[in-house]
Amino acid sequence: MSAVIVVHGGAWAIPNGLAKASVDGVKVAACDGFSVLQRGGSALDAVEAAVRGLEDNTVFDAGHGAVLNADGEVELDAIIMDGRTLASGAVSSVKNIANPVSLARAVMEKTAHVMLTSRGANLFAESIGMATVPTDTLVTENEMKEWRKNITFSCHSRAHDTVGAVAVDSAGNVACATSTGGIRNKMVGRVGDSPIIGSGGYADNFIGAVSCTGHGESILKVTLARLILSLVEQGKSLADSSQLSLKYMGDRVLGAGGAIVVSPSGQWAATFTTERMAWAAVDHDGLWYGLEPNERRKEQLSQ
Ligand code: ASP
Repeated sequence: MSAVIVVHGGAWAIPNGLAKASVDGVKVAACDGFSVLQRGGSALDAVEAAVRGLEDNTVFDAGHGAVLNADGEVELDAIIMDGRTLASGAVSSVKNIANPVSLARAVMEKTAHVMLTSRGANLFAESIGMATVPTDTLVTENEMKEWRKNITFSCHSRAHDTVGAVAVDSAGNVACATSTGGIRNKMVGRVGDSPIIGSGGYADNFIGAVSCTGHGESILKVTLARLILSLVEQGKSLADSSQLSLKYMGDRVLGAGGAIVVSPSGQWAATFTTERMAWAAVDHDGLWYGLEPNERRKEQLSQ
C-alpha cells in the first residue's frame, strides 16, 4: 500500500499576486505531510501536520492570515476526521487559537463530543493547556486593509483560501482535515461548511476521504464531501465523483468550489469549478501540483 497526501489552499479567483505564494505553500505542506507518512505516521497525523503548516502560512485564510468578520474579528472553524472509526472533531468561531485543527483533534480525542463552538471551545482549549495567542497576532496587515475596503460579496469573491488535506497511510487508513477563517465580512457568528461533518470534510476507510473549499453556504446545502463519497460508493472514479458533485452544486444552488479526494487504495483527485485552486499531492511517483483548471505539473521529490 503506498501512502498519499493531497492538500488545497482554497478554491477562488486567486489573484496573480498571490498565485506563486499559494502554490509554494501547498507544495511545502504536501511534502511536510508526506514526510510524516514516510516516518510511519498515520493519515491523521499527516493531515494535521499539513494543515498546521498552512494555518501558520499567512498567505492562506486559516490561523494566521484569516479573513475578518463584519466586526473586524477573526472567527476560525476547523474539522478533522479519522476514517478508521468515523471519529471526528471540530471547532467553530474560535478566536485566539493559532492552530484550530489541533484543537479539533483534541475535541475528537479528549471529549465525548464532535464539535465545540466559540467560548466553549476556548474553555476546553484552556482546560487542556493549549496555548492561546492574542487575537491581533492572527490578523495580517493585508487582511486589515481588505476589511477596511468593506468588500461587497459576490458569489465568487466570497470564498477565500481555506486550507485542507486528505491522506491515506501505508495501512490503508484515510483521514481529512479542513481549516478556515471563513469568508470576508461574514456576519458575526457565521459558521460555514468547513467544520461541518459531511460538508467541509468526511473520511471513511471503506470509501475515501474528502476536504472541500468554496462557497460555504452552497457546500452545506449539498453536503458536498459526503455527496462526493456517495458517488464513489456507487463505483464512479474519484475525479468523476468530484466533478459531478461540483456540477450539481453549481446547477442546483449556483455555488462554486473545489475538493480533494483520496481513496484507501491510494488513488487521488483535485477538482474545482472556481477560477483557480492551489493544490499539491505527493504519491509514490513524486510531487504533483496545480492552480489553473486542468493544470497538473510534476516534480521529482528531492531526497
Ligand atoms: N468554505 C469556506 C467557508 O465558506 C470558504 C472557502 O473554502 O474558501 O467558510
